[in-house]
Amino acid sequence: MLAALGAPVSAHPLDASPDRLPPKNPVARPYPPPPPPPPTFGAPALERRWSPGGEVSGLPGEGNLVALTVDDGGSGEVIAAYARWCAESGMRVTFFINGSLPGWTEQAAVLAPLIANGQLQIANHTWTHSDLLTLDDAAIQQDLLLNDDFIRNTYGVEARPYFRPPFGRHDARVDAAAAAIGYTVPVLWYGSLSDSGEIPADILLQYAREWLLPQHIVIGHANHAPVTTVFPQLAQIIADRGLQPVTLDDVWHRP
Ligand SMILES: [Zn+2]
Repeated sequence: MLAALGAPVSAHPLDASPDRLPPKNPVARPYPPPPPPPPTFGAPALERRWSPGGEVSGLPGEGNLVALTVDDGGSGEVIAAYARWCAESGMRVTFFINGSLPGWTEQAAVLAPLIANGQLQIANHTWTHSDLLTLDDAAIQQDLLLNDDFIRNTYGVEARPYFRPPFGRHDARVDAAAAAIGYTVPVLWYGSLSDSGEIPADILLQYAREWLLPQHIVIGHANHAPVTTVFPQLAQIIADRGLQPVTLDDVWHRP
């Protein structure tokens, strides 16, 4: 049978004629090529800049960097899925965590190797996720310091100087209270996946297409499952645009 598919063993001309070939199997078709694997990312080769020592909402200068920052952590499964995505793809993410949410304790061992290799950075989103404008200075500092202790004890890393005020709500007084305990850089954003509450994955992807742009800091949330179903698409958007994912530590030196 093999001979019928290639050069005939016999030199007799009939052996190679089409009507002597076995009928084509009507079921077996050539397999379609598998879809290309989702893109992967390497570590950036960057010359770091000094921390600006004040509020940031984007990355400095011209370039092709994008910083995906992921807040809260209402779902341990979503936290773990982000970690798997990073491990599989090389993706780099800065988490702004509320350590009071149990997922950050439950998934600590999953996150540890990615924190160690620099793909994940842990930053401070306060312990209670309160509107800092409603707290006095001492309460602002306590909310940051409780979370700071948790981060240090759980992950063995320093979160300072980066904090994200819950809801993006802050002013000069809040910033001064935070700066007095070393949190000198409030990190805002320039574009959101808008998934602090649950939204459908296709809507989330629309926001991703709108905001995953050069030198943007984009905010997402580890609260609801839909984002975990579109990680390959997010990676494709980033790759198609020639963007390099970065953490804040990839871009700035700590003061
Ligand atoms: Zn938040």
